[in-house]
Amino acid sequence: MTTVGVLALQGDVREHAAAITRLGAGVTLVRRPSELDAVDAIILPGGESTTIDKLLRAFELRQPLIDRIDAGLPVLGSCAGMILLATDLIDGIEGQQTLEAIPMTVRRNAFGRQVDSAEASLTWLPDGSPMSATFIRAPWVESYGAEVEVLATAVDAEGAEHAVAVQHGARLATAFHPEISDELRVHRRLLDLT
Ligand code: GLN
Repeated sequence: MTTVGVLALQGDVREHAAAITRLGAGVTLVRRPSELDAVDAIILPGGESTTIDKLLRAFELRQPLIDRIDAGLPVLGSCAGMILLATDLIDGIEGQQTLEAIPMTVRRNAFGRQVDSAEASLTWLPDGSPMSATFIRAPWVESYGAEVEVLATAVDAEGAEHAVAVQHGARLATAFHPEISDELRVHRRLLDLT
């Protein structure tokens, strides 16, 4: 059976675990480097990216995670998890580090100035179907490398369009929280990469 790890240092771990369980795969909560060994994919949940970054280093998980992702482990990051996957940040805090897994610049708390939390209707570009998305002090993708595929965009308060779901090889990131909507397409896409 496919087993998906959910990084369980901080954030909405249970919601991601529930989505994976609903899709019929196994779940392992990852807090130690050894727990990474048995997973076929990993999810970096939403939460607070600065806290998760500090805990990744304190739990000595940062480098093992980078090594597994470099070796091809499929990964999904939502919200804070998207921030963790970016190579570059705008409005990060002093000393904030990322895993540098997707060539993109992510703006932290980008939608947060207009709304703390919002529901938006997006188009899921892989199949053109509508998708309802929950944003909570969400980032957006400011710019990205040529090899990054945009899976969804959203419009800000000024009417400008921004990428809010992207894929780079086996690496997926969403600015919104598919795990707290009744939404399984993003998690299914992760499972399809295993
Ligand atoms: N603003 C948070 C951060 O910087 C992300 C918010 C979220 O994950 N819901 O990590």
